[in-house]
Amino acid sequence: MADFEAIVVGAGCAGSVAAYELARSGKSVLLIERGNYAGAKNMTGGRIYSHSLAKVFPDFEQEAPLERKITHEKISLLAPDACFTVDFSSEAMLAPNSDSYSVLRAPFDQWLASKAEEAGAEAIYGIAVESLVKDETGKVIGVKAGEDEITADVVLLCDGVNSLLTKQAVGAARPPASGIAVGIKQTIELPPSVITDRVLSGSDEEGAAWLFAGDATKGTFGGGFAYTNKSSISIGLVAGIEATMNHGRAPVYQMLEDFKQHPAIAPLIAGGKVVEHSGHMVPEGGLSIMPPLVGDGVLLAGESAMMCINLGYQVRGMDFAIAAGMHAGREAARALSAGDTSAQGLQGYTAALENCFVMQDLRQFSKVPSFMEGFHRMFDGYPQAIRDIMNTMFVVDGEPVRPLKKNLKPVLGQIGVVNMARDAMGAMKAL
Ligand SMILES: Cc1cc2nc3c(=O)[nH]c(=O)nc-3n(C[C@H](O)[C@H](O)[C@H](O)COP(=O)(O)OP(=O)(O)OC[C@H]3O[C@@H](n4cnc5c(N)ncnc54)[C@H](O)[C@@H]3O)c2cc1C
Repeated sequence: MADFEAIVVGAGCAGSVAAYELARSGKSVLLIERGNYAGAKNMTGGRIYSHSLAKVFPDFEQEAPLERKITHEKISLLAPDACFTVDFSSEAMLAPNSDSYSVLRAPFDQWLASKAEEAGAEAIYGIAVESLVKDETGKVIGVKAGEDEITADVVLLCDGVNSLLTKQAVGAARPPASGIAVGIKQTIELPPSVITDRVLSGSDEEGAAWLFAGDATKGTFGGGFAYTNKSSISIGLVAGIEATMNHGRAPVYQMLEDFKQHPAIAPLIAGGKVVEHSGHMVPEGGLSIMPPLVGDGVLLAGESAMMCINLGYQVRGMDFAIAAGMHAGREAARALSAGDTSAQGLQGYTAALENCFVMQDLRQFSKVPSFMEGFHRMFDGYPQAIRDIMNTMFVVDGEPVRPLKKNLKPVLGQIGVVNMARDAMGAMKAL
């Protein structure tokens, strides 16, 4: 008999939710996390779309350590000396299931893990799973962690983007550099009312999600972000690894320092104190780098299976990880009850993901990664063109005014009408 019915590797969004679902179904489950506590090694920008969290924890708004409800969506095109911003707010994005919140992963992940433990999951922290244990048929029957070999009828890999276990589990290849980006972030403490005033949100409970293209990554593939928390601002950037290697104009840490000095960003964080600095990989290759989700005795959920999308105006990974963790936990419990945790017995998991937004959205946006990587003008071209157009409209210097069309012609000529049409068509196809 196995030590546990299920072992979950990794206490991030996917792992803690999977362990919660298994424990709630009465299964014996061990949650193993390499960090000294849940959230110790996790990183996000961070805004969580609430819809999948609400399915697992309908009362999350009262219980979860949320920071601010996102009431302002801001998108900026940054030229080195200018910033063009769209600020959008709407009733629709505040409705239950459509709303979203800024979060800090240390408190948020500890809360999620505590839900799994309260439901009956055993958790051990500070130990990394080094390898999987298989029987003579190749079926996964447990894990090796430190000196210990711990067995289970099913193992759920929720160990995040840089999983060292998925190759052994399902033969997954290491993702190519083109499919992975690197994220870097600082959390900068400021008084709540100062943050509220600076982003013009209505109260200290409300906040902004702000994404930047252009100079944040020195005109190469990637983008900057700023999310307002209760008493801090999370500020950082995500840069494509291959783009930074081949066309990088600065190391990523320098990009962040320069981004913080940009005339549009510096006033946002002025007087703040850096209280946290973190870095992490981001899987941006989408469906093209997704490994098989199920093997004999094992299934993969969250970023260990590359479930993440970055559309430039929207970054999503946590809602995918929570939904995948929920289905992984429920379907693993079902397979355990049926006495069949072979790849065939676990197929209910892939079917559940196919029937919900997880696989459908990943498929819908499967062309985005290659489109974005070829969309150089978004990062180096359009931000400067928009700046020049705005300058023609708003700079009044006493010189006789030229007709707008005369001013616009050279600006639009820099990009070219054909290129603009090509970019618009590409965006329509990818999005
Ligand atoms: C810079 C950046 C910005 C982002 N912004 C957003 C955003 O705004 N909104 C959004 O929804 N998503 C965002 N994401 C993505 C999101 O953070 C991830 O998709 C999400 O955290 C994935 O959850 P997960 O549970 O799959 O993995 P993780 O949260 O990475 O959890 C994996 C866990 O497994 C543990 N682990 C790993 N290996 C082992 C091992 N061998 N043994 C034991 N434990 C192990 C880790 O310590 C970790 O706790 C962002 C990511 C980055 C890096």
